[in-house]
Amino acid sequence: MEHKHNSSEIAEIRKRIAKFHSCISAGHYHTVGLRVDGTVVATGANDEGQCNVSSWCNIVAISAGYQYTVGLKVDGTVIATGRNDYGQCNVSDWQNIVAISAGDSHTVGLMANGTVVAVGDNSSGQCNVSDWQNIVAISAGNSHTVGLMANGTVVAVGDTRSGKCAISGWRNIGLVSEAKILEWKEEARRREEEARRREEEARRREEEARRREEEQVRKWVAQGLCRYCGGKLGGVFTKKCKACGKPQ
Ligand SMILES: [Zn+2]
Repeated sequence: MEHKHNSSEIAEIRKRIAKFHSCISAGHYHTVGLRVDGTVVATGANDEGQCNVSSWCNIVAISAGYQYTVGLKVDGTVIATGRNDYGQCNVSDWQNIVAISAGDSHTVGLMANGTVVAVGDNSSGQCNVSDWQNIVAISAGNSHTVGLMANGTVVAVGDTRSGKCAISGWRNIGLVSEAKILEWKEEARRREEEARRREEEARRREEEARRREEEQVRKWVAQGLCRYCGGKLGGVFTKKCKACGKPQ
């Protein structure tokens, strides 16, 4: 099933993607939030462990499905927690992923090369995406999957009855564009660079302080003063500082 969108519809889709790209993604009974530092928070029902995301880090995108949560890491791998009765959480071997979307019981991943992978419930054929190409955005519905192609065409598989593939029916939450991911990757790279720069600066300052201290000690010694505090020395055979009392 294919439906060709005109350019204003595509612009609208992209706008919605940007809007919902998701700092927040809501499953049926739980809500997940992505922090700017790449960690994740979750609240709500946790009966399947769908909220066990406190150890997640370097996450650039999240998507909440029915009682499970998936997260896209900056390195292009995917992590998942919660309900796995259909294998919807079996994403640990995915690589080069740039976008993720969790449906009810199936999970879809967009690869950097424009192809798509899917795991989980395939009773309606919602995981039959292996022949998709040139995809730039994806969205998993309850029992269907839609993909936006680079040319503006939308492809869909699964239970696509009752106009589920109309734009208005898209579950845009968790849907991200490749551009957005690249932006996030750039942001993560920038943060790393900044941390490295700060570390370098601290090291430089430490070095400078040590150098100044050594310089001071040299001066005191040259002036015949205590090497520890610069105080005057006393004593005939053994020199001793009159200020701090330390032998020289
Ligand atoms: Zn002294």
